[in-house]
Amino acid sequence: MRAATTLVRFVVYWDIDGTLLTTARAGVPALEDAAETVVGRRPDLTAMHTAGMTDPMIAEAVLQAMGHPGDPASCDLFLDAYTAALPYRLRHKRGQVLPGILDALTYLAARQDVANVLLTGNMRSGAEAKLQSYGLAAFFATGGFGDDGSDRSDIARAAIGRATECYGRAAGSGVLVGDTPYDIAAGQTVGLRVLAVASPSHDRRELEALEPWWVTDRMPPGAELLEKMAQETPTPVGRTSRGS
Ligand SMILES: [Mg+2]
Repeated sequence: MRAATTLVRFVVYWDIDGTLLTTARAGVPALEDAAETVVGRRPDLTAMHTAGMTDPMIAEAVLQAMGHPGDPASCDLFLDAYTAALPYRLRHKRGQVLPGILDALTYLAARQDVANVLLTGNMRSGAEAKLQSYGLAAFFATGGFGDDGSDRSDIARAAIGRATECYGRAAGSGVLVGDTPYDIAAGQTVGLRVLAVASPSHDRRELEALEPWWVTDRMPPGAELLEKMAQETPTPVGRTSRGS
């Protein structure tokens, strides 16, 4: 945590999968490992669409698809088995840090008036495993995680609460960087502006239809993001356009 917290003017909240990095779906065999632990047989989850879903949502969906009740205790067991299996799976299937991310994080981390905060559906230990595996862990001191709730809006509230404790009031009017409609919905629910970065799974047109603050085809330079944040007054919660 930085010493002069009152200097923070801009808080940037980051989704992980599909935004900071791709694991080349290394998490899928870890999910299969977890299902096997809980249910006793191994599903084939290769075709499952998990983009934007929180880990607790995925746990419940996988268990129920296998005919299991997917009760909270079983979901917890599933998530423990998943995060235990993940580091091994991450070593054996390699994805990449996405274009523009390392430059943007490096630039933003060097600024005294900016804080980078996680806002991810990953369980905290899974998030740490992914970030360590791809060399990004040092950029983040706090965040909101799948441990904070199944709904991404609850995770967003937790992330804002922790960021406010660390960095002060600016945390309530930051920008959320994400790649799916789930990120946009969560940001809009809690009053964060959303930078939606298009991907093959969710293209520009699909994201623009949901009216986030900004849609780009790749992560813009950190300086460009800060300039746009500084120019535009945050939209109050419940309003649909600036100045209305
Ligand atoms: Mg994502």
